[in-house]
This record gives sequence, C-alpha cells and structure tokens, in this order.
Amino acid sequence: MSDQVITRFAPSPTGYLHIGGARTALFNWLYAKHTNGRMLLRIEDTDRERSTDAATAAILDGMAWLGLSWDGDAISQFERAARHREVAEELVRMGKAYYAYETPAELEAMREHARANGLPPRYNGHWRDRDPSEAPEGVRGAVRIKAPLEGETLVRDRVQGEIRFPNKDLDDFIILRSDGVPTYMHAVVVDDHDMGVTHIIRGDDHLTNAARQTTIYDAMGWDVPVWAHVPMILGADGAKLSKRHGAQGIDAYRTMGYLPAAVRNYLARLSWSHGDDEVMTLDQMIGWFDIDDINKSPARFDFAKLEALNG
Ligand code: GLU
Repeated sequence: MSDQVITRFAPSPTGYLHIGGARTALFNWLYAKHTNGRMLLRIEDTDRERSTDAATAAILDGMAWLGLSWDGDAISQFERAARHREVAEELVRMGKAYYAYETPAELEAMREHARANGLPPRYNGHWRDRDPSEAPEGVRGAVRIKAPLEGETLVRDRVQGEIRFPNKDLDDFIILRSDGVPTYMHAVVVDDHDMGVTHIIRGDDHLTNAARQTTIYDAMGWDVPVWAHVPMILGADGAKLSKRHGAQGIDAYRTMGYLPAAVRNYLARLSWSHGDDEVMTLDQMIGWFDIDDINKSPARFDFAKLEALNG
C-alpha cells in the first residue's frame, strides 16, 4: 500500500444530498486535501429499485455547489457486480464462505423460532460445514460468510476509540444473494479494497458494519482501512434531525440564497473542533482539519447559527 491517503465518499443515490451526507463528503475531501491525498467518489447504486439518476445528479450538484471535487471518474457500484461475485466465489473456494439453500419461508421460520426462544434472529449455520454435494438440485443458494464463532472483533476507530464486538453477534451474514446480487456489506469491502481506500470516514450508523466488514477483509487477507465514524447530527433541541429543524437537503440552502462558503464552514464546525474560530478560509480549514479532532458526541444542527454565519 502506498503512503498516500485515499478517502472516498460513497453515497446511495436514493434522494437529495442531505446535511449528514454533505458533512461526510466535506470531511473526506478535507482530509484528502490536508494530507495531499485523493478523494474518490463511488455511487452505491446496487439497489436498483431505490437508486435513481435524478438522485445521483442531485448529489453531484450539491457537491459541486459546496466546492467539493473528487479525483478520477465516479465509480458505479452496480457496474462492479461481476467483481463482487468473483470475490464471493473466491471466498467459497477458500472455505471462508459457503452456499446456503434455505427458502425465504425457511429463513422466516428460523427467525420465528429464535424469537419464540428469546434469541437474536441469527442464521443457524445449517449449511456452514455441509458437503456441497448435498445441495438441492436446481436451486441457487445465497453465499454466506463464515463469521468467527468465538472471541471478538476489534474495530480501532479514530473517532470512537477501540470498540470490541463479540463475534457470536456477527452472524454468517449473506454476501451474495441467491439472485446473484451482492449485498451492501460485501460490495463496499470489495470496492474499497480495489480502489485502494486507506481511510473510511462515514456516519456512525455504519459502526457495527465495520465489524462485519472486518470479517470480509480478514477472510480475504486484505488490510483493514483506518476507520473514522462520525457521530450523527441532531437538531438544536437534541432530537433526531427532522424537517421541523429546518431543511435537510443541501439544495434547499442554495435555493434560499445561502452562500456555499457559509454552509461549508458551518458543516465543518459540526462535530469538528479547532480552537474558537467560527469563520475560516478554505485554506485554513484544509490546513487544520484532522480526523483525530472529530468529536465523539453527536453534533447539533442549529439553524440560527448557520443564519448568523451567512450574514
Ligand atoms: N452508501 C452508504 C450510505 O449512503 C455509505 C456506505 C459507506 O460509506 O460505507 O449510507
């Protein structure tokens, strides 16, 4: 691996660029600039039902308005499905993943059984160590990763610290569905590895995914990237950010006549502390930004403060 920092912004094109996504993009961009690295862009359009071209356009527009650029061509995750399948097959060949042939009804019964016994709804491992020759004829199975059964998985996060996940909670999750479509968990790891991503800066709603994704990195013998999971953004009153706290789409701020520099400045200050400077030039922001200074506690989005910055 080269020493150059490679970050990425990986939005799912299912709606506009919201405040949280814009902040993630900004942090990835700032960190790449700060380290003289590169920021890549990957459109996570694997979910064909929810992804739209209009959403992709809205996200790219929002980034352009904020002055955020990326290096190289934007990558479509959907177009890489053959590569995701290839890695899933490789894991099966190496004995690190396996085909499982349960029908949706059987899986539902398994979950129901677990629920009735007060257990978390996990896969029961039925096909984990079975001989593939026992596979039912004419049925295409789903590929499941063999998650470690004992011990714990350590996620060393530059924002959250060292988080340990008991391996018994990981489950043999699906990496390739029976219709041949890769799951999000798997596609992200394969893409980040192939793109040479060194630092993953994203929302902390993905923190538990980092443990699952580590399972895939380890199974492939790939280096695990540096994680930095950024806390969520709340409204000024501490409640989950919603419409009543002000617009959530970046586009709305543009329509309302906000200056991109003010919005960028405000977003940068959400969950990143550097001295007391309320207003920074772009060069200062790039010079000062560091993932180690991202706060661990949730940020509060205060419309009035943004308003003041805009003035
Ligand atoms: N596509 C995911 C999202 O929009 C992000 C995945 C990631 O950053 O790993 O939430």
